Amino acid sequence: MSRPDILKGRFYNDGASEFLEAELHHIGEALYVVEKGTDQKIHVQLESVADRLGNVPRKIYFTGDSVFECVDNEAVDGFFKSETHFFSRLTKAEGSWKFVILATIATFVCLIGLYRYGLPVVAQVAANATPAAVVQTMDASTRETVDKLLFSESSLSDERKAELRQIFDELVEISGQTNPPMTLNFRDGGRLGANAIALPGGTIILTDQLEALADNDDELAGVLAHEIGHVERKHSLRQLYRALGMAFMIGVIGGDSGQVVEDVVANAALLDTFSYSRAFETESDIHSVEVMMKAGRDPLAFVDLLDKILKARNINPEKDDTGWLSSHPGNKDRRESVKAHIEQIKAAQ
Ligand SMILES: [Zn+2]
Repeated sequence: MSRPDILKGRFYNDGASEFLEAELHHIGEALYVVEKGTDQKIHVQLESVADRLGNVPRKIYFTGDSVFECVDNEAVDGFFKSETHFFSRLTKAEGSWKFVILATIATFVCLIGLYRYGLPVVAQVAANATPAAVVQTMDASTRETVDKLLFSESSLSDERKAELRQIFDELVEISGQTNPPMTLNFRDGGRLGANAIALPGGTIILTDQLEALADNDDELAGVLAHEIGHVERKHSLRQLYRALGMAFMIGVIGGDSGQVVEDVVANAALLDTFSYSRAFETESDIHSVEVMMKAGRDPLAFVDLLDKILKARNINPEKDDTGWLSSHPGNKDRRESVKAHIEQIKAAQ
C-alpha cells in the first residue's frame, strides 16, 4: 500500500470539545494539522494511534491533549505504514519472532543480573536493618530446632569447656565483635558430626566431634575465628534474605510464590543458615587469618582441621571442590588462598 500524504477528518485542538474540519499532513517525519479552508499549519507531536475497532472512527492522539479523528481506517493504516516511522517500526517488531526472542533473552539477562548483583545488595541492606531483637528470636528458635533434630548434650568436661571459652573470648575481643554479643555453646553433633555453626544472633555451636578431631587448640581457634567472621559480616542473615529473594523471583516467574516462600523459610532456618556462598567463606577465612595472627596463633592451623573433617567423611581434600558442608570452598584452593593472605599481611607489617 502506498502511503497517503493526507488524512481527512476532525481535529479537536488542545482538549477542545468543538472540532475543526481538518487534514492531517506529514512532511517527512513531521505531522501537521491544516484547518479546512485555511493554509495555517499546526505542528503536532504523535503520541499514539488507537487500535482498529470495527468501523469506529480512529483516534490519533497528540501531545497536549489534541486528537485527530478519521473514519477511513484503511487510510489511517496507510498513513502510518511507513518504513521509517518509529510507530510502524515498533508495531512490526512486536509481530516478529526475532524481537520476541530478543525481548525474552533481555528479560532473563535482567533477572540474572538482578539475582547476581541486585539481590546481594538488597540482602545486605535488609540484614543491616534487621532489629537485634528479631535476630535474637531467630537464634533462639533455630537453636531450639537444631537441639531437637540434630544435637544432644555435650560430653566435654567443664575444664575443657572453660579452656575453649577463654580462647573464644580472646578471639571475640580481638575481633571487636560486641553486637550481637557472642556466646560459645558445646553440643554432641549427632549426625552432623564434626562441625561448627554460627547463628546470626552470635551463637556459635562447636561439636564434641570437632573438638576430638583437633590436634591442637590453634586448629579449633581458627575455626572459631572463622565462625565469628560469619556473625560479624551477618552472613546467615544475608544468605536468608537472598534465599527469600530468589524464592520470590521463582514465584513471580512461575506465577505462584506462596508455597515456595513457605518452603524456603522453613528450610532456610535450618540448613541454609549453615551453608554459605564461597564469597562468604572467603571473607570469613580472611577474618580468621587476621584475628589469629593478632592473637599470635597459627593462622593456617584451621585448614588442617578442615582437611581432617573431609577425611573423616571420606572426601579427598586434594580433590575436593564441593567442600566443607558442600558449599565451603575446595580445601586445596582454600589452603592456597589462606597462605596468600598470610603472606599479604606479613608483607604489610
Ligand atoms: Zn564457614
